Amino acid sequence: MKGSRIRKKTRPIRVGKGGMGGDFPVSIQSMTNLPIENIEGTVRQINALYKKGASFVRLAVKGIESVTYLKKIIASVEVPLIADIHFNYKIAVESIKAGVSKIRINPGNIGDAGKVREVVKAARDYSVPIRIGVNGGSIDRKKYPEGTPADLVESAIDQIRILEEMDFHEIAVSIKSSDPFLTIEANRLLSLARDYPIHVGLTEAGYGLSCMVQSSIVIGHLLMLGIGDTIRVSMTGDPVDEIAVACKILETTGDITPALRIVACPTCGRTDEDLDLRMLAEEIEKECNDRFSSRLAETGRTLTVAVMGCEVNGPGEASEADLGIAGAGKGHMILFARSGKIGRIKSCDALAALIKEVEKILPSPPAPLPK
Ligand code: SF4
Repeated sequence: MKGSRIRKKTRPIRVGKGGMGGDFPVSIQSMTNLPIENIEGTVRQINALYKKGASFVRLAVKGIESVTYLKKIIASVEVPLIADIHFNYKIAVESIKAGVSKIRINPGNIGDAGKVREVVKAARDYSVPIRIGVNGGSIDRKKYPEGTPADLVESAIDQIRILEEMDFHEIAVSIKSSDPFLTIEANRLLSLARDYPIHVGLTEAGYGLSCMVQSSIVIGHLLMLGIGDTIRVSMTGDPVDEIAVACKILETTGDITPALRIVACPTCGRTDEDLDLRMLAEEIEKECNDRFSSRLAETGRTLTVAVMGCEVNGPGEASEADLGIAGAGKGHMILFARSGKIGRIKSCDALAALIKEVEKILPSPPAPLPK
């Protein structure tokens, strides 16, 4: 990928075995949607999120009795957990003691300074950071009747100040709203106001295509501006589905380099009518994944394969691909590499021929040492 963005340097915070901000990569996080009492289901969901690419998983801890379940869940998973707590400082303190890696709580909502001090003391003792989360739908409308981007930032700063006055700086901040413009502008202003790691996302983004497009625009826009240290795509439904979208966003912004990338053209009138390019691209992606993903992981190599509709523009448009195929008319395709055209084949043999070429350029893993 040519070009890159400059990411705003934020103050790093440790979150369990990972971290956010500073030189930590932009991470993906999600949230479980099962009651915490369902330990087995919650553990299964957390592991599924982790396997798909979540670096952190948040879960709602609703009552003090939930902490017993929380402990069991923490003991059963590898991924650092974040406890989401509203109002009750005791749940925050007990969750920290139970071993969560981060908590999300707004200090302004938990009562007097003594209660906040208890939470800050526990967070300090156990090296647990605190995420302040301001939501456009729940800011204090008496104080901020307009709910402008500046209001959302001021509301976040109100919360931040409470911790700063206690000399606590292990902070992450999020400002979310269901309005894309509001969310982008508020986060932009926030990044100018403080250097704490920022968690970006769009709230109440809905489900399916609508959520994917809206979240990609908002999160992608902010990341391209250099803003954002951890992201969450909030999607109604199975949270595991969020991760694929988040991974694609980070691939697009250059924060993740996929080992295997299939690029394909949209096709046009130059494409042979008999050539189903979409189906071919999907077959190639599956076959390459099945055959080469472990080899790519072992060797640390990346592979870009182009599947193009015509030989007139295909090889030129996909010149960054390691290998490619392009329609050549009359049931034929050409194979090309960075060096140029390397062969002509029947379209029905395209998959096999391409796999053979990939075999040639990908080194085999080293042979095991003799015993
Ligand atoms: S590569 Fe060829 S077929 Fe594909 S969009 Fe470009 S001109 Fe059309």
